[in-house]
Amino acid sequence: MERTFIAIKPDGVQRGLISEIISRFERKGFKLVAIKIMTPSKEFAQKHYDDLKERPFFNGLCEFLSSGPVIAMVWEGEGVIKYGRKLIGATDPQKSEPGTIRGDLAVVVGRNIIHGSDGPETAKNEINLWFKPQELM
Ligand code: ATP
Ligand code: MG
Repeated sequence: MERTFIAIKPDGVQRGLISEIISRFERKGFKLVAIKIMTPSKEFAQKHYDDLKERPFFNGLCEFLSSGPVIAMVWEGEGVIKYGRKLIGATDPQKSEPGTIRGDLAVVVGRNIIHGSDGPETAKNEINLWFKPQELM
């Protein structure tokens, strides 16, 4: 069954949005197959966002992801990669539709509270980066 990697970023954790975000994925009908809390190192954040290393905001982004606890999760279900991104909404919360997580709960792109894998290949790589096989249900 299809799986994706979802992370609640430090701003989402600090703002107390863990249960709100998890319940949106649960209510949709997706299944939580792994979850843990961790503060990634900056080097780990750089690995996670490796495809963005040429972008001007890369350093700030990695600093931010490593600034506090993150909720790392694997969700499973038919179409979960694409539909998970739909639940999350557009990257820039100013452009996310109301009803989406970022549309309802965030304001600026640098503090958009949640990450979701953008395709099957990245989903596989990110799950392998964040979780050991024995941590997955
Ligand atoms: P994510 O990968 O976190 O799920 P995304 O796939 O919607 O987000 P990406 O293009 O992968 O968007 O960008 C990764 C993250 O980098 C964004 O979530 C955002 O926090 C940050 N980011 C993207 N564009 C900008 C920007 N122009 N300025 C500052 N931060 C940005
Ligand atoms: Mg992305």
